Amino acid sequence: MKKFIDLKNSLDYTKLKEAAEIIRLGGLVLFPTETVYGLGANGLDENAVKNIFKAKGRSSDNPLILHISDFNMLNDIVENISDVEYKLMKEFWPGPFTIILNRKPVVPNIVTANLDTVGIRMPSNEIANKLISYSGLPIAAPSANISGKPSGTNISDIFDELSDKVDCIIDGGNTLVGLESTVVRVIDGIPTILRPGKITPEDIKRVVGNVKIDKHIFSKLEDGEKVLSPGMKYKHYAPDSKCVLVYSDNNDLLVKKINEISMSYKTPLILSTSENVKNYENKLVIDIGSKYNLDEIAKNIFTDLRKVDKFNPDIVIIEGVKQEGLGLAIMNRLVRACSHNYIEI
Ligand code: AMP
Ligand code: MG
Repeated sequence: MKKFIDLKNSLDYTKLKEAAEIIRLGGLVLFPTETVYGLGANGLDENAVKNIFKAKGRSSDNPLILHISDFNMLNDIVENISDVEYKLMKEFWPGPFTIILNRKPVVPNIVTANLDTVGIRMPSNEIANKLISYSGLPIAAPSANISGKPSGTNISDIFDELSDKVDCIIDGGNTLVGLESTVVRVIDGIPTILRPGKITPEDIKRVVGNVKIDKHIFSKLEDGEKVLSPGMKYKHYAPDSKCVLVYSDNNDLLVKKINEISMSYKTPLILSTSENVKNYENKLVIDIGSKYNLDEIAKNIFTDLRKVDKFNPDIVIIEGVKQEGLGLAIMNRLVRACSHNYIEI
C-alpha cells in the first residue's frame, strides 16, 4: 500500500481527488460504500480490472459490479433500458441496489466475465460517490476481502489480507448496512432478486407491483446447472472453522437444539441473538445483536464471522433469524457461511 487516507471523522476532498487520480492511473483503491468496503479500479481498463481479480484471488468467471456516481455515466455503459428498470433505479439509487443491464461494447469482457450484461450500482456513501465522480469513470468493485472470506465492513478486519495488494486505502469507518447490495435482474418485466440485501422484496414490490426471488438464494447448485449470477456458485463468507446454522420459529425448540448440538463437541462456540445469550449458560457465546433489530445484526455479522476462528472452536453454531425483510439477506449469507449446513426445526 502506498497511501492511507483517514476519512473516519471528516471528509477531505483534496485527498479524495488524489485517490481518484490513482483510479485514473490504473491503480487499486480500497474504499467504503454504504454496504461493504469495495476493492475498486477503473472499470473500463482491462489491466486495472485484472488486478482486482489477482488481489482477491477471485475466479475470472465471476463478474464485477460497476459503480457510477450519476445517471450520465449510466448511458455511457449500458443500453436498452426498460421502463421498469428505470423506475427501480430512480427509486433505489443512490443506495444498496444493483441492477443487471445490457452492456455497451465499451465495458471490457473481463468485467462481465464475457456476459452481455453488467451489474450497475450508484452508491449513496459520499466518499464512494465523490471517488467515482472525481475519477470520472465507472469503478469496478467487488467486496474487499480475499475470495471466500466474509466481506470487509471496516478497515481493521481486512487490513492484513489486502493492504499489500492495493495502492490506496480509504478508511471511512464502519459501513452502514454491513451486507452487500441487493442484486436484481428484470426478466420478462418482472424484477428477480439474484442476491437479497437491504432493499427487500417488499420494497421492490411496492414500486413496481411484483417481484420474484431466484431459487438459488438458498438452494445448493447442482452440477452443471446454469445460474444467472455467477457469484452464486462460490463458497462465500466462510470462517475456517466448521459452522452449522440452526433456526426455528419456536424459540424453546431452537435453544434446546443448539444446546443439544453443543453437547457433542468439546469446544463449541455459539453465535446467539442477544435475547438468547442467557440460555447458553457456561458456554462460549458471541452476541450477534437483537432479533428485533435486524439492521444491527446485518451491520455486525461479517465482523462476528471473522472473529470465530480466533477461538479455535470445533464447531460454530449460529442462530438463524426469520427469513423476512432484511432477514432474507442475513440468512442468505449465513447459509453460505455454513456451506449449506442448515438445520430448520
Ligand atoms: P461481489 O462482487 O462479490 O461483491 O458480488 C457481486 C455479485 O453480483 C456477484 O454475485 C455477481 O455474480 C453478481 N453479478 C455481477 N455482475 C453480474 C451480471 N452481469 N449478471 C449477473 N450477476 C452479476
Ligand atoms: Mg463479495
